[in-house]
Amino acid sequence: MIRIPPQRGGWLEVICGPMFSGKSEEMIRRLRRAEIAGQRVVIFKPRIDDRFDAADVVSHAGARMRAVPVSSVAELVARAQGFEVVGIDEVQFFEHPVVSASLELAEGGARVVAAGLDQDFRRLPFGPIPELLSHAEFVDKLQAVCHRCGGPATTTQRLVAGKPAPYSGETVLVGAAEQYEARCRDCHEPGTDAAALGASAAA
Ligand SMILES: [Zn+2]
Repeated sequence: MIRIPPQRGGWLEVICGPMFSGKSEEMIRRLRRAEIAGQRVVIFKPRIDDRFDAADVVSHAGARMRAVPVSSVAELVARAQGFEVVGIDEVQFFEHPVVSASLELAEGGARVVAAGLDQDFRRLPFGPIPELLSHAEFVDKLQAVCHRCGGPATTTQRLVAGKPAPYSGETVLVGAAEQYEARCRDCHEPGTDAAALGASAAA
């Protein structure tokens, strides 16, 4: 697909999809190109995500680029000043003001590239993602490979001891014993309590 970026001013790109769909890898690929072109590039990520090295955005495929962990949207905006390309990884974990902050940066002339999960483990829209998608000039929804059937996966399955995690669980768990798999719509299993809670995403 050929894209013509705006000739003046900044814009917003969103890279979304389930876990294991290559979102971080794609963001690193785009920002690396900008860096090669001599643009001033920075990546931020929420301080919550310390899966790997605290200073790197690390994709599951092993590509890495330095990232600045920030504790708040205000800190992100303050530290983004003077950069031409601003990456925001794991954007779903930021508070809702990340939407207005992204627009403010784009309107100030920056190319903003936000990457994150579009759905939580229940298949519900995740945090600020819906609004970011509606404001973005460019959106890419990546697919993973379904862990069960090998088809295109668009959802993230949370498992506890190999079983679907309860629907009523916390949306964000850090350092917990949960495991995740990418699944297609058909193979995604709601938690056993989903029907009792009237969940519409129940399969
Ligand atoms: Zn499947």
